[in-house]
Amino acid sequence: MLKVGVLALQGDVREHLSALDAAGVSPRPVKRADELAGVDAMVLPGGESTTIGKLLDRFGLLEPLRDRAADGMPLYGTCAGLILMARDIVGAHVSPRRLGVLDVVVRRNAYGRQVDSFEADLEVTGFDEPFRAVFIRAPSIEEVGQDVEVLATVEGTAVLVRQGSLLASSFHPEMTSDARIHELFVNTI
Ligand code: GLN
Repeated sequence: MLKVGVLALQGDVREHLSALDAAGVSPRPVKRADELAGVDAMVLPGGESTTIGKLLDRFGLLEPLRDRAADGMPLYGTCAGLILMARDIVGAHVSPRRLGVLDVVVRRNAYGRQVDSFEADLEVTGFDEPFRAVFIRAPSIEEVGQDVEVLATVEGTAVLVRQGSLLASSFHPEMTSDARIHELFVNTI
């Protein structure tokens, strides 16, 4: 059975583990390099991307994660996880310690001024029914590279993207009981 790790430094670790369980893989928390070495794919939960970046560095995971992603290990980043995967960040707040493996440009807290969080029913490529998505101080995806597929949008802005084995969303699919986004990820592994 596929072993899928959930980065367990901050965020909805338990919720991601149970969504992955529902998606039919063997999930486990990862916070050390030896644990990372034992998984086939990784989920990077949301939280505060600057803090997670610092913790990744401190726990000696930044380089190994970047190397594994470069070797083709599937990664799925949600919200702050998307920020950590992004090639570039625009706006006042950057996240200096990042993986930078996904060819997108994001802006942090882009929907954060008027409304901190909101929900939206997304039309996702390949889904028969809309997916109810929860956004919490979400980043916006401002640009996508040539090899990046946009799988869902909100008002014309990409919110779910895929580049080969890399998947990223600006929303939190672990906050609802619908495991279809985790299944989508598992199917790319
Ligand atoms: N606002 C956070 C950041 O910029 C991300 C929010 C989240 O992960 N829900 O890092």
